[in-house]
Amino acid sequence: MSVILDGAAIAAAIKQEVAEEVRSLAGQGIRPGLAAVLVGNVAASEIYVRSKVQTCAELGIFSDLLTPPDTVTTREMLDLVAALNARDDVDGILIQLPLPAQVDTKALLDAVDPAKDVDGFHPVNAGRLQAGRPALAPCTPAGVIEILKRSNIPIAGQHAVVVGRSDIVGKPAAMLLLHQNATVTICHSKTRNLAEITRQADILVAAIGRPGFITAEMVKPGATLIDVGINRLYTREEFDRFFLGNPKREAAFVKRGSVIVGDIHPQAFELSGAYTPVPGGVGLLTVAMLMANTVRAAKMRRGL
Ligand code: NDP
Repeated sequence: MSVILDGAAIAAAIKQEVAEEVRSLAGQGIRPGLAAVLVGNVAASEIYVRSKVQTCAELGIFSDLLTPPDTVTTREMLDLVAALNARDDVDGILIQLPLPAQVDTKALLDAVDPAKDVDGFHPVNAGRLQAGRPALAPCTPAGVIEILKRSNIPIAGQHAVVVGRSDIVGKPAAMLLLHQNATVTICHSKTRNLAEITRQADILVAAIGRPGFITAEMVKPGATLIDVGINRLYTREEFDRFFLGNPKREAAFVKRGSVIVGDIHPQAFELSGAYTPVPGGVGLLTVAMLMANTVRAAKMRRGL
């Protein structure tokens, strides 16, 4: 029987700890603050940002939502970021991606004060993470580590295989696992004999962006499977490929007209020792870790 690693319970525990820390900082006259920048009207981005702002309210963190129009220029965005960098009530700056094509995303992310970079995307934080110095680590990979640790899954000495090498998930996840003394292999679209490598994994992290890409044949029985992927399926054909005969998913599909699947095929989970479900796994940790990073930034900025 494989163990389901319950992202909701772990995220709730982290949020409770953050709320306690916020209360203790309040005793010292400090209120951590997050500025969230949401450009235009991308529906998915709006949902993500609203959930982040709402979680701030639940935990006692101050938040300010800024909503420039989707015609905003790089110059205007740089001015906005400069103003947020200067504000004392803002400890964390979150720029929801993707940005409209006319905005230079890299220039903007590089303009965020690294001390307020709660997404951990600034090259200074990426460098600090690599060098093993105190850093604001990207939220999703940090959540992966929290899931493993809080589920008492050993990391040291284990072979961790990370499929995906993006700057926001794959690379930092690999680095964090390395700092926990895993033996880490990073795979990507040019990797040869991928299945041979993934079958060696004690811990397999999938951050690819392709529905059910990691199949049962690619997994060592008993491995821990961490599924970062979030892929939405809209057609009956796609649905049947993954969830045929699953009444719970069937009901969700009929009700919403779509269903979410990760980068790991549901059949592979059955072979695992433990796995993160999608939804209900890693995704829930991302917001919790953003809150934790905001409090951390508030403390670090004040030398606490
Ligand atoms: P990217 O598209 O930036 O990166 C995908 C990575 O997968 C790339 O490194 C790519 O390799 C690799 N890849 C693509 N195809 C293959 C293949 N056939 N074989 C091996 N590797 C392959 O995606 P992200 O890292 O941003 O996101 C990954 C997934 O995680 C997505 O589903 C995304 O929605 C989800 N996500 C979830 C979050 C959460 O909160 N749970 C947060 C962020 C992302 P190469 O570099 O060679 O192109």
